[in-house]
Amino acid sequence: TYILGIETSCDETAVAIIKNGKEIVSNVVASQIESHKRFGGVVPEIASRHHVEQITLVLEEAFTNSKLIWDDIDAIAVTEGPGLVGALLIGVNAAKALAFAKDKPLVGVHHIAGHIYANRLEKEFEFPLLALIVSGGHTELVLMREHGKYEVIGETRDDAAGEAYDKVARMLELPYPGGPHIDRLAHEGEITIDFPRAWLEEDSYDFSFSGLKSAVINKIHNAKQKGETLKPEDIAASFQASVIDVLATKTLKAARQYQVKQVIVAGGVAANKGLRAELESKFADTDIPLLIPPLSLCTDNAAMIAAAGTINFEQGKRSDLTLNANPSLILR
Ligand code: ATP
Ligand code: FE
Ligand code: MG
Repeated sequence: TYILGIETSCDETAVAIIKNGKEIVSNVVASQIESHKRFGGVVPEIASRHHVEQITLVLEEAFTNSKLIWDDIDAIAVTEGPGLVGALLIGVNAAKALAFAKDKPLVGVHHIAGHIYANRLEKEFEFPLLALIVSGGHTELVLMREHGKYEVIGETRDDAAGEAYDKVARMLELPYPGGPHIDRLAHEGEITIDFPRAWLEEDSYDFSFSGLKSAVINKIHNAKQKGETLKPEDIAASFQASVIDVLATKTLKAARQYQVKQVIVAGGVAANKGLRAELESKFADTDIPLLIPPLSLCTDNAAMIAAAGTINFEQGKRSDLTLNANPSLILR
């Protein structure tokens, strides 16, 4: 099967074609980061406008690269949510128009299911499987006992991990998106500050990052008032240590409790070098295989949407032309 995927939930306009759910035939991503940088974050109206301008070009390029024709395509998969409603709508409407014009089945995909299935482009899944999703909008531990079924066993109660990275980066006057900059700085600095770790209740797999974010902001303010100089690289290293400690510890604990056969990591923060290293070292002492996708598949792309869409398609799940963007779509 060849599935065409479309992703426009945030600030990437992306189209990809995937063969049999596992093989990338073409994968085109147009990023808008430059346009949003000067605002320090994604501006929804600007995002929508860019998607409108880019979607046809990206689609054409994805087709040209694939050397396929419409006859070869079995279905069209599109991110229906969550995300920015105006941004999602561009992808959803493009997918509906194509499904109608080319007479192809339409398959709605949850954005986070996409982030999870990015890993299947690297290695076949084995169940039960635990996924740690760490992105700009999500921090979740998801248990999968079979394809296409998701049990959220833990999630953030406030900020997402990526959001905390971006906010702390802003305090340190680093460019948007801040995650990669903090990551880089953290490796140049020392862990000199003991920032809090939100473990929450003993048996909880939930996360919380807003307390940590506030602690970092207070630390910076207090130091300024006292005329102390704090090295940004030390703040970055100390902040990152706290985030990674909680993420990696809870992931390992859940992996053991549910006796999973595989642990996968997904979302933009999976690009974090510190997190990758910590998870690798923690899981090296176990016999549970850990899978972290290559950087290009960590952030938003359409290959992951087509990969997750392939499963929906194979399981007979179809959307019709009433499909709508759903900014708060639930993963299940
Ligand atoms: P979602 O997937 O939840 O809808 P999103 O699409 O904004 O949100 P992604 O594109 O998956 O999220 O990831 C972007 C996030 O990843 C940003 O918050 C960014 O700062 C963060 N990020 C990217 N690289 C790194 C890194 N090396 N270290 C930490 N964070 C990073
Ligand atoms: Fe994403
Ligand atoms: Mg993004």
